[in-house]
Order: sequence, then C-alpha cells, then structure tokens
Amino acid sequence: LRNNIKQLVPYSSARDEFKGEARIFLDANENSFGSPLPKDYNRYPDPMQWQLKYKLADIKGVPPQHIFIGNGSDEVIDVLYRALCNPGVDNVVLCPPTYGMYEVSARINDVVIRQVSLTEDFQLDMPALQQAVDENTKLIFVCSPNNPTGNSINRSDIELLLNNFDGIVVVDEAYINFARQKTFIQELTEYPNLVVMQTLSKAWGLAALRVGMAFAGEEIINVMNKIKPPYNISQAAQELALQALENVAQVNEWIKETVVQRDVLAASLINLPIVLQVYPSDANFILAKTTDAKGIYQYLVEQGIVVRDRSRVELCAGCLRITVGTPEENETLINTLAQIEVGST
Ligand code: PMP
Repeated sequence: LRNNIKQLVPYSSARDEFKGEARIFLDANENSFGSPLPKDYNRYPDPMQWQLKYKLADIKGVPPQHIFIGNGSDEVIDVLYRALCNPGVDNVVLCPPTYGMYEVSARINDVVIRQVSLTEDFQLDMPALQQAVDENTKLIFVCSPNNPTGNSINRSDIELLLNNFDGIVVVDEAYINFARQKTFIQELTEYPNLVVMQTLSKAWGLAALRVGMAFAGEEIINVMNKIKPPYNISQAAQELALQALENVAQVNEWIKETVVQRDVLAASLINLPIVLQVYPSDANFILAKTTDAKGIYQYLVEQGIVVRDRSRVELCAGCLRITVGTPEENETLINTLAQIEVGST
C-alpha cells in the first residue's frame, strides 16, 4: 500500500452508519424540495452500489464483497495506482503494445513505468518480465484479450506471473466475452495477488454509462473503496446498469453475432490487395497490417468512416485497428477499401 493510504481515514457520510429508512433526511445538504426529474435524484446515490453488486455477483459467480465498481474501468486503473504506488518511487510493469490508459494514468500519478514489449507473436516476454521486476514493482498489467492486438495472452504465462510475482497482477478482461479463453474471475481464491478488470462498455453495450468493475480479494477491494470518490457511480448509472443486466440473453446474441461478423470481416480484409496481414482476434476488433495505414485512414475519414490508426505503435507498423461493425457497416467498409489501389494513397 502507498504510505499515505495506510494512514487514511476515509470520507464518511451520516448514511454510512445509518442503514434503513428515516422520516426526514437533513444530513447531506441535498435539495429537500425535490428534483426537476421524475425521480428522487435530489438524493445522493448508494456509495457502495450494493444492489448493482448483488446483481453482478449473481451473474459472475463472485461474492459482492469481492467487487469494486468504477466510473469505467479507467477509474479502476487510477484507483489501483493511487492505492498501491508511492509517487516517484514505485513502479508498474507494462507490456506494450497495449491499452494506452495504463501508461497515461501511471504518468498522472507519477508512477515509474517499466516497459517490457510483447514478443513478435504478441505474447508476454517472460524472461524479460522477470528481469524488469524488482522490490518496488507493485503492479503488472496484462490485457487479455489485448488491445490493440486482439489476441489472448497465454493462460500458463499469466499463472506463472501470479505464482512468482509478489505484487499485484491485473488481468484486464475488457474483451473477455468475445474470447475463446476463459475468464480468470474464478481464480480469485487461488491467487490473493489477482485483480480482474471487466467493463460494461464493450459486450454489454453500455459505454456511455461508465461502469467498470474490479474483482479481487476482500482486502484489496476494501482499500479501493476507501480511496474512491464517495459517489463515483451516479444513481442513473446504477439504475440503468441494473436494468440492462436483466438482458443477458440479448447480450449473448450480440456476442455470437459479433464473433461471426469478426470472422467474415477478417476473411474479407485479407482478400484486399492493400491488406498484408490480419491478426487472429479474440476481441470485437481486428488488427490488420496494411500497405499504408496513414493514407488508408485518411481516405476512410474522407468517406465518413473512422477506424483507428495504430501504425506508430510498437510492433504495429502499418496497422489499422478496426471494430467489428454490423453486417451492413462491415460491407460498406470492405467495399470502400476495395476501391483503393495499392500505392494510390
Ligand atoms: N481496458 C481496455 C483493454 C480497453 O480497451 C478499454 C477501453 N477502450 C478500457 C479498459 C476502458 O474501458 P471503460 O469504458 O470501462 O473505461
């Protein structure tokens, strides 16, 4: 734990101690007259989001006290750094190319960054990781399936890390619903140093709500709760997420369709003369190496289609990252790309 966090007395409100109904609430300086919206939005929400956690516990098979909810998983990343890493002293090990917020959030929190690039086949470089870790390494982020490469990280390597590293291994499973590999959520009791991150932003179709989750042992979750902003998940987000979580069947349908479309898109992309390689994906996007990523990206923008140019990212020269769209969107993309002649961009 970061030194200042060991001493921290967390913010508390009168309602933390007070459970149940009262006749009159005059403790939180809310508007006592009401809300302009047709709900009790004049009242602060449950800071611990228990209803939502019970529902998530049910779906995920993890006890509610092992769940932390963040304002997107981006907040989970930030809270982990603030809980564990003494600024300017402690370090995090990152494995690029990977999700950009691990680095940005580390820089914001003045956490020392050690980069251990993935191998050519986008797997963990285990000998190099062993070299990079020292007594000040508090966290290792492993993104699986990895953004932007799309592949899952070998399970045995993650297990090796969990067994041999004293600090915390964060497995970011933002795209796990699209993967052939199974989640690490069921391994929490086996590995006290495991934190699994998931989100409602991808498969669940709720990116606008900003709901991300960490699953971990109770001790870690308690520390995260201690330092998060008290009301980090709005009442609207809690209610809507709860409502959305009733639609498991619909979401499972979308996942199936996304996986089917991913294969269709991959097969169409590799047939284009401007595409040199399509990397295998376990996510809802595809990384494709092209003849001229920047030119193709610009051309697509002019046609009203936005993809992600990842060509300046390590190991991703020439690469575009393309989200799997609806069948119509994918067809439009492929038809538009088919108009390009090699060398014309
Ligand atoms: N992790 C990964 C691997 C991501 O790709 C993203 C979003 N692109 C996030 C986390 C952040 O998700 P959220 O919307 O939950 O903040």
